[in-house]
Amino acid sequence: MNAQRRRIFLFTGGLALATVLAGALSVPSLERHYLRQQAEQDGPLLELAKESLSAALDRYAPLPALIAERASLADLLAAPPDAALLAEVNEDLRQTALMVQASDVFLMDISGRTIAAATYREPGSFIDRNFSHQSYFMNAREGALTSFQVSGTTTGERGYYYAAPVEEGDRIVGVLAVKFNIQAFNSVWNGAGSEFMVSDANGFVLMSSRPDWHFRAMRPLTDTTRRVIAQNLQYPIDRIELLPINKIALDDTAQLVSFAETSGESYVMTSTALPQRGWVMTSLTPTGPARLMALKLLLILGLTGLLLFGALLSYLLKQARQREALVREQGAKRLLEATVDERTADLQKALEHLKSTQTDLIQAGKLTGLGQMSAALSHEFNQPLAAVKTYADNARAFLKRDRIAEAQDNITRISRMVDRMASISAHLRNFARRPQQAAGPLLLNQVVQDALAVFDVRLATTGGRIDYTPPAGEVWVIGGHVRLQQVIVNMLNNALDAMEGQDDQVVSLRVDGPRITVWDNGPGIDPAALDQLFDPFFTTKPPGKGLGLGLSISYNIVTDFGGMMTAANHPDGGAIFVVTLQPAQAMRTAAE
Ligand code: ADP
Repeated sequence: MNAQRRRIFLFTGGLALATVLAGALSVPSLERHYLRQQAEQDGPLLELAKESLSAALDRYAPLPALIAERASLADLLAAPPDAALLAEVNEDLRQTALMVQASDVFLMDISGRTIAAATYREPGSFIDRNFSHQSYFMNAREGALTSFQVSGTTTGERGYYYAAPVEEGDRIVGVLAVKFNIQAFNSVWNGAGSEFMVSDANGFVLMSSRPDWHFRAMRPLTDTTRRVIAQNLQYPIDRIELLPINKIALDDTAQLVSFAETSGESYVMTSTALPQRGWVMTSLTPTGPARLMALKLLLILGLTGLLLFGALLSYLLKQARQREALVREQGAKRLLEATVDERTADLQKALEHLKSTQTDLIQAGKLTGLGQMSAALSHEFNQPLAAVKTYADNARAFLKRDRIAEAQDNITRISRMVDRMASISAHLRNFARRPQQAAGPLLLNQVVQDALAVFDVRLATTGGRIDYTPPAGEVWVIGGHVRLQQVIVNMLNNALDAMEGQDDQVVSLRVDGPRITVWDNGPGIDPAALDQLFDPFFTTKPPGKGLGLGLSISYNIVTDFGGMMTAANHPDGGAIFVVTLQPAQAMRTAAE
């Protein structure tokens, strides 16, 4: 892994870690959000249960007063013990209890002693027990029409008591009480999956969907409360235990609670007051579902984040790969460029080497040419110089003897010799500086006619013949009139030279478009000489007959015109020279 990729992994990993951390840190507040939402849902349910409970409790409120009006009760309280009446009242109360589904209906005399009860036949009946200390008794004896109280002292059963005074005229002679098992009201709670409880003013749980919370205290008991309870015998004091609740406020109405004794059990607690009775009704919804919701949301967010980070990572890696590829490509390009530069330099060197070799060769060629030239020149000049020397010596000798006429003759010969050398010199000068006049379109037919005119005298003396085949029409070529004529004259001269002394001397001259062919019936060219034919100063002719410059000059002229010149031996004998020129558009005026 290279540094760039490591950076990308570090970056994405760091980002993912930061997100995970942020997610983890947000768990509690997210959970609280869902818990609050739960509490909001519990609120209305709780209000509904509160209304139902109040309505159910109120429904039985008038009951004791109605029963207390029965005359038989006052009679029983007024009379000395009468077994028949007591049996009648007991049975009457039993029937009444069955009718209203009360767990007991019982009659107490003014001292609080129970003298008749619906449960008179059952063991543990209230008969003969004194409830003067109970507040419902005390309230009723004071004349309160209805009174209620929750108690569980006697049986441990949580009873809800209604009581009313029994009157004889305007005198209160006893108290009638109706007891309901408070469990009967549990049906007011409809919160499926949630628990509920009702606690009284002292914080004791008197109703609950959880039996193990019955008679538990919601808050610690003060000593005063303890004393009052012990006096009233309202609750089984020995059974009262504090519920070990830890509370965390969620909002104004809801709290998060957990029970220390049952580990892991925690609830959203929502409470509402029943002010009439001094009670508080509480709903407890397990936090599990809300927490699960929070976790689910986090999981979804986490998975989405994972996908996003994956996508980000792959995107960044792809970019890195592309960048690397680019760098590699550039590297390869640079390498290629370096190779090209190297090869170019090699080529340059090779070229320079070639040039210097060429220069060397040219130098060598020049030397060869110079050698040939000096040989030819010394030959050309030595003979006339020797002659001039002889003529000069002769002239001096004749002058000593005053033989003027002979001396003059010799001096004339010297003059002729000098003229001849001057003409050779002029020829050489022409060769050395190639005239560079412009070449242009010219009529080839005319050039050939002018060249042929030169040979009238020579042909008349040697008996040779030139067979001319003219072109079909006008032929225009690129060239210079005088120089092209010089080329044709030179070819014809060479042909006639080669055939000198032959019986039958015929030169065939053809103009075929821009091509000029000169073919003679002489001995042809020595094959060994073919390669050097166009070299300057190459000649096979005897001294004084040729300088060996004709073909060289002709070749250069034709090349200057952009044409070609070749020499060969014809299969039918004789030499054949071909000059091919560049064709040109017809023009009225030639360049030269
Ligand atoms: P020169 O005529 O002075 O020798 P040229 O360059 O004109 O110089 O010719 C070079 C040589 O080419 C001649 O010496 C001759 O050997 C050979 N040559 C030229 N034309 C002919 C020809 N028609 N037949 C045979 N040999 C020829």
